[in-house]
Amino acid sequence: MLGLSPLAVSVRPSATMAAAAKARELKSRGITVYDFSLGEPDFHTPEHICRAAAEAAARGYTHYTPAAGLPEARRAVADWYERYHNWKVTPEQVLLSNGAKHSIHNALAALVGPGDEVIIPTPYWVSYSELVEMTGARPVLVHTSAETGFKMTPEQLRVAVTSRSRLFMLNSPCNPTGAVYSRKELEALADAVLSTSLAVLSDEIYEQLTYGQARPTCFATLHPELSDRTVVISGASKTYAMTGWRMGWAVGPKHVIAAMGNIQSQETGCPCSISQRALIAALTGPQDCVEQMRGEFSRRRDLVMRRLRDLPGIRFTEPDGAFYAFFDVSSHFGKPLAGGPVSNAAEFCSAALEHANVCLVPGSAFGCEGFVRMSFATRSDVIETGLSRIGEWLRGGL
Ligand code: PMP
Ligand code: GLU
Repeated sequence: MLGLSPLAVSVRPSATMAAAAKARELKSRGITVYDFSLGEPDFHTPEHICRAAAEAAARGYTHYTPAAGLPEARRAVADWYERYHNWKVTPEQVLLSNGAKHSIHNALAALVGPGDEVIIPTPYWVSYSELVEMTGARPVLVHTSAETGFKMTPEQLRVAVTSRSRLFMLNSPCNPTGAVYSRKELEALADAVLSTSLAVLSDEIYEQLTYGQARPTCFATLHPELSDRTVVISGASKTYAMTGWRMGWAVGPKHVIAAMGNIQSQETGCPCSISQRALIAALTGPQDCVEQMRGEFSRRRDLVMRRLRDLPGIRFTEPDGAFYAFFDVSSHFGKPLAGGPVSNAAEFCSAALEHANVCLVPGSAFGCEGFVRMSFATRSDVIETGLSRIGEWLRGGL
């Protein structure tokens, strides 16, 4: 058998992707699965965006583009930041990539390497630690808990910094907790960052999905000095239901973006030409589709909260953004459940899939044992039935 590289041996598959693959496999065998695994909007990409892509293909936009993206597409992103966050950036400060995950990889590859430490508050999105490790740098996980709304304090950041710290990764609204840092909380974190030499990667991909009073803040706009050391990540996947189009972007200091562009030119040539045309239509076209989808997510969130309150032994904090409920199931560990007792979140999820046909992702994949994540980017009737089945199972009825 062919030997594998140390990188290939060490890298683990994405836990969210793995859970979704498991659900898909069961469905292909004709089994009904209430699938809350993957964080991807279930809506169709809005019609005018699809039309722009079809026209682009027909008009011959089917070739390589510049490595960092089409100038018009980079301009559309830059203009969007000025409109939405009142942040003036030039197209040279924007890099388009094949999804925000790719943008994060490019940013890490440009900023950190062996011997460096990257500070990541937990719970964190599954791919952060793996993507950091792929560069040879070391993730330094800083624990946050439900008691502080899963938010990192400036004091925690100060304590985590060592002479090797290079980068701080922030995610608000957060996957998996739905936590949204207020402007005041971010200002306090920004002060802590400014007292160090840390660079910041601020993943703001759920910025258009906030609920109630919560509002998104673009970290780079909080202080003039921050825009010189922050790479902001976002993309079209969540906002415009465009996960399969793979359109993500990074906005940051010109020299960092140029370096990321060089890396991208070697790795993948350029982002997909047709998707870039679709992105221009998404950013410059009508935005009422965004508000409609946000409104529907908000209603589903309220439904999930109501149903979770009915479940025995579940504790949760309400998500202010994104489309995940993150709840504590540890009170069920070691207790008699149909199929036998479970002792951790992974076993809880396996048993929920086996006995209730409900697919969840264990919190341990996000650096938080005892919790599970449920994506509510799925239809209300699936949410209703899936959570009723969890309730029946936990009460011993399944
Ligand atoms: N960041 C976070 C926090 C996410 O949840 C996701 C979802 N996949 C991404 C980045 C990557 O998004 P994509 O690659 O689909 O643009
Ligand atoms: N962000 C989504 C999730 O967390 C998509 C899956 C992935 O890219 O890992 O489920």
